[in-house]
Amino acid sequence: MSAVLVVVEHDRGAMAPATLEAMTVARSLAGQLDATVEAVTIGASADELAGQLGVYGATRVHRAHDDVLGDYGPEAWGEVVAQAVRALDPAVVLATGTDRGNEVLAQAAARLDVPFVANVTDFRPNGSFEVTRVRWGGSLLEIASVDDDGARLATVAHHAVDAVPADDAAAGEAVAIDVDLDPSLARTVVTDRVEREAGVTLATAPVVVGGGRGVGSAEAFAPLQELALELGGVVGCSRAVTNNGWRNHTDQVGQTGTRIAPDVYFACGISGAIQHWVGAMASKQIVAINTDPQANMVTRAGYAVIGDLHEVVPAITAEIRRRRG
Ligand code: FAD
Repeated sequence: MSAVLVVVEHDRGAMAPATLEAMTVARSLAGQLDATVEAVTIGASADELAGQLGVYGATRVHRAHDDVLGDYGPEAWGEVVAQAVRALDPAVVLATGTDRGNEVLAQAAARLDVPFVANVTDFRPNGSFEVTRVRWGGSLLEIASVDDDGARLATVAHHAVDAVPADDAAAGEAVAIDVDLDPSLARTVVTDRVEREAGVTLATAPVVVGGGRGVGSAEAFAPLQELALELGGVVGCSRAVTNNGWRNHTDQVGQTGTRIAPDVYFACGISGAIQHWVGAMASKQIVAINTDPQANMVTRAGYAVIGDLHEVVPAITAEIRRRRG
């Protein structure tokens, strides 16, 4: 009987919640394909996860160990998945639709020279293996069919399904899988870890004050920070800002940054390019501050102030303080 094989995303043994979404989809696919659900864990730090994977339906958990697998590394993880596919010949390989999941399956697909579909929301596995997947940062749904007779590699779009345990837990039998990894695979390695500050985050903040290229410099973000503090919010930014090194990538809103959904988003000196917009469009209200009345962000915002942000932002903060006494 063939298998639907789930690549378990974890960080030093802490399983990513998205893995359980992939397990939930794997059970549904396995039912349609008359296959088993199996999983592969990468690195000894993930050895303890077999039991939990059994609860989500894994009959077997293949554990890969190697010195190169002490921490996350896309090349080494991708090679493990490629070797697991050659050894186990699964019908479908699923991973998480996260940065890591997509990176690992892209690595594996390139090594196996097979197609890979990322961020799938719906699978129709029989026949031509048709899928619906998210493109353009969530602004487009695409129907695609995978034209390959071998294993089908796909990632499950994050939050497309709720993670649900199996009605009856499976054995989650832990078995070793032999992998042969060249030390040179450790090309991309984790060298440092930074603890994020506790408290309000960009993804959950009720107010985000975002700055773009129009802010002009790292120092010129100070008035945006003041406005954010006044409103219990945080500062965000566009990619032009992170590219210029004015702020850290953790502050970036957009397709390759964070998706935000605050009550109010102040978009200051941001043109509203599609890649930024897809990260900001879930905001309940947008106030655009821009010198250009034709900027995309201005035409899409609920409210707009046409003017120099260096004057407008401090004026808003001053007015809020005046009204609060
Ligand atoms: P600009 O487009 O240069 O706009 C600056 C704006 O500031 C203009 O509208 C101007 O009128 C206004 N302005 C100038 N001076 C002032 C002033 N004094 N007062 C008021 N307004 C002023 N971008 C993201 O933001 N997030 C992403 O995740 C992202 N991902 C990407 C992924 C890919 C694959 C690619 C190709 C691009 C991505 N980008 C992303 C980049 C995106 O396409 C835009 O280049 C970027 O968003 C532009 O940033 P900006 O609006 O700050 O700069």
